Amino acid sequence: MCGIFGYVGTRTAEPILIEGLRTLEYRGYDSSGIFVPGYGALKAVGPIDNLAKKITNTISGTSGIAHTRWATHGAPTERNAHPHADMSGTVWIVHNGIIENYRELKEQLNILGITFQSDTDTEVLAKLIGTFNRGDLKEAVRTALKMVRGTYGIAVLSEKSPDEIIVARMGSPIVLGIGKDGNFVSSDASALLAHTKDVIYLDDGEMAIIKKDSYSVLTLHGVSKERTPEKIEWDAESLQKKGYDHFLLKEIMDIPETIENTIRGRLIPEKGRAKLGGFESVLQKLVSIDRLMVVACGSAAYAGQVGRYMIEEYAGIPVDVELASEFRYRKVIPHKNSALLAVTQSGETADTLASVRKGKELGLLTLGMVNVVGSTIARETDAGIYNHAGPEVSIASTKAFISQVVAFALITLLIGRERGLTQEKGIEIANALASLPEYVRQVLKNHEKIKAVAEKYAHVRDMMYIGRNMHAPVVYEGSLKLKEVTYIHAEAYAGGELKHGPIAMLDEHFPVVALVPQDAVYEKMISNIEEVRARKAPVIAIATEGDKNILEIAEDVIFVPKVHPMLQPIVSVIPLQLFAYYVGVAKGLNVDRPRNLAKSVTVE
Ligand code: GLU
Repeated sequence: MCGIFGYVGTRTAEPILIEGLRTLEYRGYDSSGIFVPGYGALKAVGPIDNLAKKITNTISGTSGIAHTRWATHGAPTERNAHPHADMSGTVWIVHNGIIENYRELKEQLNILGITFQSDTDTEVLAKLIGTFNRGDLKEAVRTALKMVRGTYGIAVLSEKSPDEIIVARMGSPIVLGIGKDGNFVSSDASALLAHTKDVIYLDDGEMAIIKKDSYSVLTLHGVSKERTPEKIEWDAESLQKKGYDHFLLKEIMDIPETIENTIRGRLIPEKGRAKLGGFESVLQKLVSIDRLMVVACGSAAYAGQVGRYMIEEYAGIPVDVELASEFRYRKVIPHKNSALLAVTQSGETADTLASVRKGKELGLLTLGMVNVVGSTIARETDAGIYNHAGPEVSIASTKAFISQVVAFALITLLIGRERGLTQEKGIEIANALASLPEYVRQVLKNHEKIKAVAEKYAHVRDMMYIGRNMHAPVVYEGSLKLKEVTYIHAEAYAGGELKHGPIAMLDEHFPVVALVPQDAVYEKMISNIEEVRARKAPVIAIATEGDKNILEIAEDVIFVPKVHPMLQPIVSVIPLQLFAYYVGVAKGLNVDRPRNLAKSVTVE
């Protein structure tokens, strides 16, 4: 995953690089490092702070490259930290991605007598560039990249030409920032916001050379390309914690506003319709598909599963939801008139991107649901919907997940109304969506109660989550949050599955979180809770306000308001997000940056 940052301009580079890395730290924090011509490289294991602490006097120099690592090849040690140098020690590179044929390249370089200081695939690329460098670094990079298989976003800087950074992209994001007193390169547009809103997203197979007052873009084949900057819409303020202790809490508390942003301008309540500009060009095709294939990873896949219930129930289209990491390697036999919908917050998720490309090869209509405007999946799909959730900094997804579920509701309304959903039912859904932020505010107001319950259970080793129907994916998501943020072993099952195996694990030390909204499967869930109680496992119920019955049978109850059944999963999942947050805090963990994880999974 890794974060790359680079600057060339008139200001002192080092503080700019460190600040850039801090914004990118969510992408990996195994180690970090910088290279500034005239000074050399500096590296440290662990978070950016460890690197910053090593810098006692400001490093002079007005250009530099920087990296925060999520290790794929080689342990997270200082030796393996980026930047990596060529044989002369003058050319340095930072890399996001994986050089798949690094072993064979390394063997060939070994034959030439070249030795390596690290175990990384990246250093192999650095040395390869070195073997071709006869003074024209751009050509050396281009030649080396033609021999490489795999994914990369790289930035290259040499002692000998400190006024230009060479960057290239294949499969890992690279964004150029065009500033007033210099130009930038970053893995993510959010790290550029402090300096400029004018950005250029490189495409796969493109390179760029950035200098202090100019930039040029070309293909790996050496053909130059005309690229003009576009404006990013996020502001730097939205990246701050707004007084909350953690981004995770801030982002959960932002959910009402997130929902407002996702639905803004997209509902026509009096007609019971939705209007999605991004789908307009393919609308006819979209409403006549006979199957929708949703591909996604992690929380986005669970959002897709909630979406499946919505679309099947209210729009009458069969939906399959598949993990992108499976879809891309499987023999897919598409139905005639199928469409593929890729769901990804970053729009860069490697497996999801590969699935989009596979969908295209299969001749499918490809659609995207993406948060980051201008990201690769947003650009490569035929049409799409943006989540408008704003930047999500915390590793564990909360508001972006909710915005995905809300976007599914909008898609359901859009397609449903073309396929038999009555105006009356459409109006009901549109009104329910419009009033959803208010109901969510009510759930969030209950945070002290959720905190108390979380603190009561923070010591447990195992936890089970159960729910049915639309709430089955909600429990998968709830248990994923707990795993990510607290490292507690958590399992999640559709309620009916409990007796087919997992109930064997339950005892008084294995609490069960049960989602029991008053819906069509309420009675079934009550029976599940009775089964759990019979095994002495404590039950924490997430139930509908006014449900007195549940107080009799559950150890702890968190009430949520009743909303339209299609949107109930949204109000039910928020207590689970808060629960995971408060358990993590009670355990003294770094809830914004859980161990072993990174935000935007741009490696495969
Ligand atoms: N493969 C490189 C390394 O392990 C970069 C990793 C990444 O982009 O996640 O250092």
